[in-house]
Amino acid sequence: MNRPGSNDVLVLGGGVIGLASAWYLLQSGRGVTVLDQGAVGSGSSHGNCGTLTPSHAAPLAQPGIPAQALRWLLKADAPLRVRPRWDPALARWLAAFLRRCNWRDAAQSAAAKLPLLEGSRQLIEALVREQGLDCEFAAVGTMNVYRDARGFEQARVEHERLAQYLPRYELLDGAAAIAREPALKPGVAGAFFNPGDAQLRPDRYVDELARIVRARGGVIEEHAKIRRIVRDGGRIARVETSRGDFSGGDVVLALGSWSPQFARALDLRVPIQPGKGYSITYARPANCPRIPLTLKEPQVCVTAWGSGYRLGSTMEFSGYDATLNRTRLDALRRGAAQFLHEPEGPAVVEEWYGWRPMTPDDLPLIGRVPHIRNLVVATGHGMLGVTMSAGTGLLVSEIVGGRATSFDIGAFAPARFT
Ligand SMILES: Cc1cc2nc3c(=O)[nH]c(=O)nc-3n(C[C@H](O)[C@H](O)[C@H](O)COP(=O)(O)OP(=O)(O)OC[C@H]3O[C@@H](n4cnc5c(N)ncnc54)[C@H](O)[C@@H]3O)c2cc1C
Repeated sequence: MNRPGSNDVLVLGGGVIGLASAWYLLQSGRGVTVLDQGAVGSGSSHGNCGTLTPSHAAPLAQPGIPAQALRWLLKADAPLRVRPRWDPALARWLAAFLRRCNWRDAAQSAAAKLPLLEGSRQLIEALVREQGLDCEFAAVGTMNVYRDARGFEQARVEHERLAQYLPRYELLDGAAAIAREPALKPGVAGAFFNPGDAQLRPDRYVDELARIVRARGGVIEEHAKIRRIVRDGGRIARVETSRGDFSGGDVVLALGSWSPQFARALDLRVPIQPGKGYSITYARPANCPRIPLTLKEPQVCVTAWGSGYRLGSTMEFSGYDATLNRTRLDALRRGAAQFLHEPEGPAVVEEWYGWRPMTPDDLPLIGRVPHIRNLVVATGHGMLGVTMSAGTGLLVSEIVGGRATSFDIGAFAPARFT
C-alpha cells in the first residue's frame, strides 16, 4: 500500500476541481497525491466551452423552465432534454429540481454562488499571471445574443428581477451587438454584454494545473481507477484502486459526475446527475468571433482561441450514456448557422461529450461531512466548474487546514440533502 505521511492529502479525481484543490493544498504546505482513472483532465474538464462566467450565476431551475422543457420533451435536438426512462435517482432529482423552479429559490441559488464565481474568476486570472499558465486566458467579457425580440425582452425582465445577484451587464440593441461582434449576422434583436467575464482554453488549463502541481512536489497517479473507498468507523482508512491501495491523512472527493458511485460507501446522499453536453472543436474560421458568445435560442456557446474554435453546450439527462449523439452535435452546427457569418471552421479537430455534475439546486457540494472526520467533499459544480475551480481549490485547502474560509460555504454543505 502507498502510505503517504499523515500530512498528505489524497485527492480523488484529477479534473479541474481536484487539480485546483491539489494546487492550493500544496501552497498551504500539505503533501498531495491525486488519483484519476484516466489521464488528468479527461472528464468534463476537457472539451467544455472554457468561459469564466460569474454572469451565469442564475441557476438552471427558473420559473419558465418546466413549461419550456415540456415543449421540448419530444424534440431530440432540443437544447434541454430528459431522455424518458425508468431511473428512480433521476426521478427524485427532477422532482427536487422542479420544486426549485421559482424566483425565491433562483435568487437564493444565485446569491449563494455569485461571491464564489467572482472571487474564483479573479483567482484564476492571478494564478495564470503569477504561475505563467499557458492556457490562452483572455479577459474579453462574454455576450448573450438573441434573435427573437420577445425572448430578449423576457430575458431583460428576468435579469432585472435577479439584478442584485448578478454582476454588472450592458444591454445592447441589435446594431450595437453586431458593432461589438462583427462575426454576427444581421437579424440580432439584442444582447447582454458581461464585461467581467473571461475565457481560457480548458484542456490547456488542466494540463497547466497538472504541471504546476507536479513542479511543487504533488504526485498525480493516472490510470488508477478507484474501486472501493474503505472506512474504519469515522474516517476513510484507504482507497482501493486498479493500481493498488492509497491512503492519506485527509481525503478530498472531487469525482465530478462520478461522485454518486461512492455515496453509499460514504453514507452520504450525493444527488448529482450527469448533465450531458457536447462540443465540436475546429481550426479557426477566417471570420472568427472575438468575444465568447452564448446564442440564446439554440443555447449554443461559441468560444475562439488563437489555437482553435469551439461550438458547445446542450443539456441532456440521459444517465451515464457514453455515445456521441449525432442529432445533438448537428444541433450545435444548425444553431451557430442561424447567428454567425462563418459558423464552422475549415477542419473538425474533435467531437466530444462531457458530463456536467448537476445538483438540483445548482450549487456545488463543498465542505466536511459530520460523520467522516478526514473527508472533504468538492463536487457538483454543474455548468460552472471551470469558473469555480480556483475558488473551490482555495476553499478545500482552507477547510482541510481548519482555517476560516474566504467565501461563505453555508449553502454548499454536502450534508444538505440528507
Ligand atoms: C459542453 C460543456 C460545456 C461547459 N462549459 C463550461 C464553461 O464554459 N465554463 C465553466 O465554468 N464550466 C463549463 N462546463 C462545466 C465544467 O466542465 C464542469 O463543471 C467541470 O469540468 C467539473 O470538473 P470536475 O473536476 O468536478 O469533474 P471532471 O472534470 O469530470 O473530473 C472528475 C474526474 O474524476 C475521474 N474519475 C471518475 N471516476 C473515477 C474513478 N472511479 N477512479 C478514479 N478517477 C475517477 C474522472 O476521470 C475525471 O477526470 C461545461 C461542461 C460541458 C459538458
